Amino acid sequence: MHCIMGEHELRCAVGGEPLEPGAMGCEAHRSMARTSYRRELVVRDLPGMWKFIDWLPVLEPLEGVAPGPVCYRSEGLAKELRLDDLWISFSGYWPEKKAACPTCTFKDLEAAPTVQRLIDSGDESILVVASAGNTGKAFAHVSMVTGRQVALFVPVSCFEKLWLPRHDPDGGGLFVVGVRGDYADAIELADRLAKLPCFVPEGGARNVARRDGMGTVMLEAAWTMKRLPDHYIQAVGSGAGGIAAWEASMRLIADGRFGSKLPRLHLVQNLPCAPILSRFDGTALSGECPEGMYDLVLFNRKPPYEIGGGVRDALQATNGTVVGVTTEEAIVARMMFLDREGIDIVPAAAVAVAALERQVASGAVKRGERILLNITGGGESRLHREIGTKRLPCHVRVDAGKVDLESLAGWARDFLGRRKEHAGGRT
Ligand SMILES: *Cc1c(COP(=O)(O)O)cnc(C)c1O
Repeated sequence: MHCIMGEHELRCAVGGEPLEPGAMGCEAHRSMARTSYRRELVVRDLPGMWKFIDWLPVLEPLEGVAPGPVCYRSEGLAKELRLDDLWISFSGYWPEKKAACPTCTFKDLEAAPTVQRLIDSGDESILVVASAGNTGKAFAHVSMVTGRQVALFVPVSCFEKLWLPRHDPDGGGLFVVGVRGDYADAIELADRLAKLPCFVPEGGARNVARRDGMGTVMLEAAWTMKRLPDHYIQAVGSGAGGIAAWEASMRLIADGRFGSKLPRLHLVQNLPCAPILSRFDGTALSGECPEGMYDLVLFNRKPPYEIGGGVRDALQATNGTVVGVTTEEAIVARMMFLDREGIDIVPAAAVAVAALERQVASGAVKRGERILLNITGGGESRLHREIGTKRLPCHVRVDAGKVDLESLAGWARDFLGRRKEHAGGRT
């Protein structure tokens, strides 16, 4: 069994030619790398997302971390919006539904296979991640639980929002750098550090492990519904989740058991800071972005839009569309969702709910069509109450403008090296 799992190769998303293992893209076509798996989806008796391990670019499940999306047919929201065939994919904390994303968003689905893929490759470098929110929580959790070494860059203003489940072990392999500056500064520093010896970048939307991890949302949904949906609705920042949904749908069509039509993508952004909407239909960006946004995770200045196999191609292939909703609309939608479905959702997910309402009202999605609404994060309030959380540590603070990168790299190696020795000494 072992040798069948995760059997895959990388191909150019545009030309289809084979690429080196570990390639982040295809230079000849200026496009992304995409995984190619065997044709038929096999669902294994493994926890969480790992049941789809045959279509994940890993050799085995990551030990101790098994996040998974769930999919169920909506009654409350469906009735409210007068929809006959609305399905909800939920990534978060919701014990009654057996939903188990430890940090309450679908970023958990990206972090776990990314780290396992590094382990598979034998690469012991320190994984470098920059985040203002959910990505940071997800990778920090994996690092704490598995001991995998991660250097996380977070703008100091964002620490309040970052937490870990209360039972996470302390220490782990995590080194957290608080950056005095904004998210763009944190990204820039992380990019520079990742080029130094002993560090490796996490890769963002180009990382196939992140995309295929998110793709399990579509796999779980198609497996539950027995076929692909007509429409897929998700709030996006980078749009990687939209690309992942498209890629997973193509694989499901090739499998043959889930229908032959690609779901139409409805990618949603939070106005007024909507770079993807702006590229899609020319809507001007206004305001001092990201100020005034409901959820910072939906702002990405450089989404992978034009790149081959990126957001533009995903929209084109699926006859997709991009929707902008205001924060006021999202606030109302968030309350409605709690009332109708009985679970709290994160602001980004509420943006998607508001867009669904809009698309129903305009006739872009029709009453009898099968709709998949991706609730990308939720259950946070419940997790705070029922499990409890703790703050993310901050190990060093730096000024974005005047940090000595070599020293920072040295501290990170030292700090994590000592941690590892300690952990080794204890066992
Ligand atoms: C990151 C994130 C998104 C947007 O994801 P993309 O990478 O743009 O697909 C949506 N919702 C939540 C909760 C997120 O954390």
